[in-house]
Amino acid sequence: MDTIPNLSYNLLAELDEPYANRELAGRLSCTRLTRGTQDFALADGISYELTLANTGEGILLTGTAHATGTTECARCLEEAAFEVTGEVVGYFILNPSQHDEELSDDEFTVVGPDGIVDLAVPVVAAVIYELPQVLLCKEDCAGLCPICGANLNEQDCGCADEPRSDHPFAVLKDLIGD
Ligand SMILES: [Zn+2]
Ligand SMILES: [Zn+2]
Repeated sequence: MDTIPNLSYNLLAELDEPYANRELAGRLSCTRLTRGTQDFALADGISYELTLANTGEGILLTGTAHATGTTECARCLEEAAFEVTGEVVGYFILNPSQHDEELSDDEFTVVGPDGIVDLAVPVVAAVIYELPQVLLCKEDCAGLCPICGANLNEQDCGCADEPRSDHPFAVLKDLIGD
């Protein structure tokens, strides 16, 4: 997996301005994402549109992240195209002792005294969350022949027509008779 560039942002200026909003838009240049064993090639990085809002107690991050690219078709292993838009969310607080006790630990990020956060983390997470589990190159992809491995979208290998004595159902056929 490529290293994803940081999107460092200093929240201290935001924290000084209660109830102010800041808009951020741009593009993270990353070419590849992985989730589990699946590899996703990105066509043009991850574009994002973010809003940082000072709630008075912390900085609420909202926005969208968008990416297009290709991954392996789940059936034929050729390229399959995807396009995803994920929702970016985050909540940053400077002083954990001041935070609302109703928030659980996974609902906020504590910002260090320097006020620097890496917004690439929630942006990338939003896209990864939306990446398809199973993607097909086309809805009716014929997949690979389970016998010879040929791509059945490109050719009819003929295996399906060939009677095979070692086929599990051949035994049944003998038992049942004609
Ligand atoms: Zn396919
Ligand atoms: Zn075949």
